[in-house]
Amino acid sequence: MKAQPKASHFVNGDWLEDTAGAPIEVIYPGTGEVIARLHAATPAVLEAAIAGAVAAQADWGRRRPIERARVLMKAVEIIRARGEELALLETLDTGKPIQETRVADWPSGADALEYFAGLAPTVTGETIPLGGDFAYTIREPLGVCAGIGAWNYPSQIACWKAAPALALGNAMVFKPSEVTPLGALKLAEILIEAGMPAGLFNVVQGRGAVGAALATDSRIAKVSLTGSVPTGAKVYAAAAAGMKHVTMELGGKSPLIVFDDADLDSAVGAAMLGNFYSSGQICSNGTRVFVQRSVKEAFLSRLAARTAKIVAGDPLAEDTQFGPLVSAAQHEKVLGYIERAKAEGARLVCGGSAGNEGPLFVQPTVFADVTDTMTLAREEVFGPVMAVLDFETEEEVIARANGTEFGLAAGVFTADLARGHRVIGQLAAGTCWINAYNLTPVEMPFGAVKASGLGRENSRAAVEHYTQVKAVYVGTGPVDSPY
Ligand code: NAD
Repeated sequence: MKAQPKASHFVNGDWLEDTAGAPIEVIYPGTGEVIARLHAATPAVLEAAIAGAVAAQADWGRRRPIERARVLMKAVEIIRARGEELALLETLDTGKPIQETRVADWPSGADALEYFAGLAPTVTGETIPLGGDFAYTIREPLGVCAGIGAWNYPSQIACWKAAPALALGNAMVFKPSEVTPLGALKLAEILIEAGMPAGLFNVVQGRGAVGAALATDSRIAKVSLTGSVPTGAKVYAAAAAGMKHVTMELGGKSPLIVFDDADLDSAVGAAMLGNFYSSGQICSNGTRVFVQRSVKEAFLSRLAARTAKIVAGDPLAEDTQFGPLVSAAQHEKVLGYIERAKAEGARLVCGGSAGNEGPLFVQPTVFADVTDTMTLAREEVFGPVMAVLDFETEEEVIARANGTEFGLAAGVFTADLARGHRVIGQLAAGTCWINAYNLTPVEMPFGAVKASGLGRENSRAAVEHYTQVKAVYVGTGPVDSPY
């Protein structure tokens, strides 16, 4: 088999198998071929992973941050040196074109490890003068964190969670999506090779039940989930019962607003990136493209012309720009949304059917004349389906853009920067762009408002979510007591 790992799990610094766990078949979405066979974690595997993490964290959390940083920097070096091999595995696991996985997935993960390695030694507390007495604060690790991943950026998600967790002195038990379980195992192996003590980053496979077991275990201090809104609600509720910290990176239906003074070619390019990159399987995608009416037809004709030139095909081919969806279930779901958009009266501009490059392809699809009440404007499709809506005024588009339960991302294209800032200031979204879309450098906080989640990944903001403050009052004189 093309990508069979040595075992299903990586626990306490080594591969671990337990064939009693439910089978998980990994398919290469490019062809539908089975590339690995794994097993879900049994209670014994989970116990080994959590107990190992608890034991390893006690020492790791007390080490000098710069020592922890050195290990992460070594891992960065290994990831960059093995870029091609890792990109290939990511393409096999997800079906995303090798063009993308070479530049986006592991490279972004390596950036996160590098950033938090650099940041960790700078994380300090404060001293609070109290007129003779004083207090100080310490930022302590939380303990053992659970990471639960989605299937669209499996290795990036593993790195984005592991990097701040480990740099700041925590241990992690990570459960990848059952659809794309391979990349996280590589990360675990690389961290050991880089000198990380055993037990600090464990990977256990499984479906929702394994994630739920992590979210409810009393030894887990925090749950960081990347997934859909319904899963987020369940995991948040389970974590709340145990008073655990959470980071929730969930779904979206984000607005991308194009005003009539915008550089239209840039706006079209951004709308395509924000709907067709990774075959549209990106949480922050600008899937409601609001175009000001006076430029709507010009926007649509340039969009259709450029979309027609997208090169779809074998994800492993050098020139392929557009791959299949990740699974048969996702393929069926996306085609269902396309049929529904047609039935509800949206105007099909291009695409609109399954692609003929392989079993899981869907054509890059654009619908125009979409209205706010159509299903396509309300629900997350998570596929290459762009909804174009039109608007007249700034006030109107702000209200309509905010008329959703989601609040992950938003974008504005305009030549008038004052308007850009004014509009972004009124949009309910955690991650925003002006005259750009979907760029997520590690230096910038990434996260959501409303139903799309809470907490922030990347940047200094993540420190808040992987540490807790201990406050220490220091008395310097006799104790003043009425008794
Ligand atoms: P999903 O919600 O189906 O699954 C996400 C993960 O949660 C998987 O590992 C799954 O096994 C696990 N899970 C399922 N039920 C669980 C439970 N009850 N308890 C604990 N864990 C459970 O999502 P998906 O289909 O894998 O991914 C697509 C979704 O992820 C989309 O909605 C997308 O928008 C979202 N996403 C968000 C971000 C972000 O950063 N905001 C990034 C990528 C994807």
